[in-house]
Amino acid sequence: MRVTVDRDVCCASGNCEMAAPAVFELADSGDVQVDDSAVDGKVDSVRRAIVDCPTQAIELHDA
Ligand code: SF4
Repeated sequence: MRVTVDRDVCCASGNCEMAAPAVFELADSGDVQVDDSAVDGKVDSVRRAIVDCPTQAIELHDA
């Protein structure tokens, strides 16, 4: 599985990093970095990040 973040709507709140720190990292620049290699083992945490994201910027994809 893989994750995408719509950077046009992301407000750099950092909620995703708190929910799934193995997958999301909020850089000092405010850009969210995603480690797709970590998604498969952290799907529940990614789903939590999706719920917690205030701007619905995160999507989880099957492939
Ligand atoms: S939770 Fe959503 S809005 Fe906040 S940093 Fe992550 S992707 Fe951006």
